[in-house]
Amino acid sequence: MIDIFTSDKLKVLYPKVKSFVEKELYPIEMELLKQPFNDAEKILQQKRELAKKDGLWVPYLQPEQGGSGLSMLEFAQISEMLATTPFGHYCLNCQAPDIGNIELLNKYGSEEQKEQFLRPLINGDIRSCFSMTEPDFAGSNPINMGTTARLDDNQYVINGHKWFTSAADGASFAIVMAITDENAETYQKASMIIVPTDTPGFILKRNIPVMGETGEGYLSHGEILYQDCRVPTSNLIDGAGSGFMLAQERLGPGRIHHCMRWIGICERAFEMMCKRAATRSMGDGTMLGEKQTIQNWIAESRAEIDAARLMVLHTARKMDHEGTKAVRIAISTIKFFTAKVLMKVLDRAIQTHGALGITDDLLLSFWYRHERGARIYDGPDEVHKSALARNILKEYGLK
Ligand SMILES: Cc1cc2nc3c(=O)[nH]c(=O)nc-3n(C[C@H](O)[C@H](O)[C@H](O)COP(=O)(O)OP(=O)(O)OC[C@H]3O[C@@H](n4cnc5c(N)ncnc54)[C@H](O)[C@@H]3O)c2cc1C
Repeated sequence: MIDIFTSDKLKVLYPKVKSFVEKELYPIEMELLKQPFNDAEKILQQKRELAKKDGLWVPYLQPEQGGSGLSMLEFAQISEMLATTPFGHYCLNCQAPDIGNIELLNKYGSEEQKEQFLRPLINGDIRSCFSMTEPDFAGSNPINMGTTARLDDNQYVINGHKWFTSAADGASFAIVMAITDENAETYQKASMIIVPTDTPGFILKRNIPVMGETGEGYLSHGEILYQDCRVPTSNLIDGAGSGFMLAQERLGPGRIHHCMRWIGICERAFEMMCKRAATRSMGDGTMLGEKQTIQNWIAESRAEIDAARLMVLHTARKMDHEGTKAVRIAISTIKFFTAKVLMKVLDRAIQTHGALGITDDLLLSFWYRHERGARIYDGPDEVHKSALARNILKEYGLK
């Protein structure tokens, strides 16, 4: 944590979160990862209760909703600590995609939606998912979409095929992006609609295997068929045609959340790399950490993690002061930059451990599998780089 970004609130909360993560989660993290998620969830539930009791629950929400009222800058630093262990965010109910759905419903949900969906989500009684990407259309430019929601007798009838709906397995509802008016202007065609997962026609076809892991429950990515799924029009979020605006609202903070998390993962991987380098004897009277290549990796990783953190905290601070729109390009910048740092640090940490690095005896392989998607989800690297470059080139007169 960096002093210039701290606050009185953080000085109290951060040590508590650190202690919770180190005492309650580090000792059981490997055991939890070896179990199917639905078994691990029973233990995680106890930890969630403990987090609630200790006043750590949903720290990004206001006190009247049970949180600590943290700013984005403050939450960034809590999030980094939580990310040093695989279930840190889950235990404080800060995990994607729920945190994004909570923020969305908080801001744009109707009173009825808040009562029915938001309240139990904040309490941690249910989970949710976000269903936008489709296998047959380029997700990096989602203006084209096959999923439709047709009005019929005060209901929306939803038909479509989605995939990579993370954590759909076991979720109580999905926020679904669907075309509601094919003839509207491009960015007014789509809407977001809440679909309870027990609605007839909501079919979780499969959990998609990712790098050898199918996963289940919270740790999964669902392929979903919506077949004549009928929900009341009151499940529409905000208004018809506001889907893309809501997606932008959801994605801005969501991308900052991911970056904060990745820095926490980097720190833990970095610590593992350094411990290994300092203690692995190479049999020729030298330690691994005496090899210059390893020293280069450690030095470069330290510098890159620190640089990424400063960029992320600066963006978070600016967002607190000037709003999401003001940091649109900064968010693109930290998204691809931090994802790249994450990949490099994880890869170096694995390499430093040799064969052990790719086994499931360490956390590194879990993160390598689960976080390769960082360069793809919420906008692939190439899209963010292009947005940044175009913004820069505009100043040089490029139209
Ligand atoms: C782990 C994971 C979790 C996810 N969770 C969710 C979720 O919960 N809900 C949800 O709706 N979606 C989710 N997604 C989907 C994700 O948002 C999409 O995968 C992403 O938007 C990219 O879309 P696509 O896969 O269709 O790739 P495409 O759009 O087909 O792009 C393929 C590749 O083309 C390149 N490319 C694209 N555009 C450009 C460009 N302008 N210039 C140069 N190159 C370009 C990039 O390299 C890109 O990776 C998740 C994805 C992953 C990997």
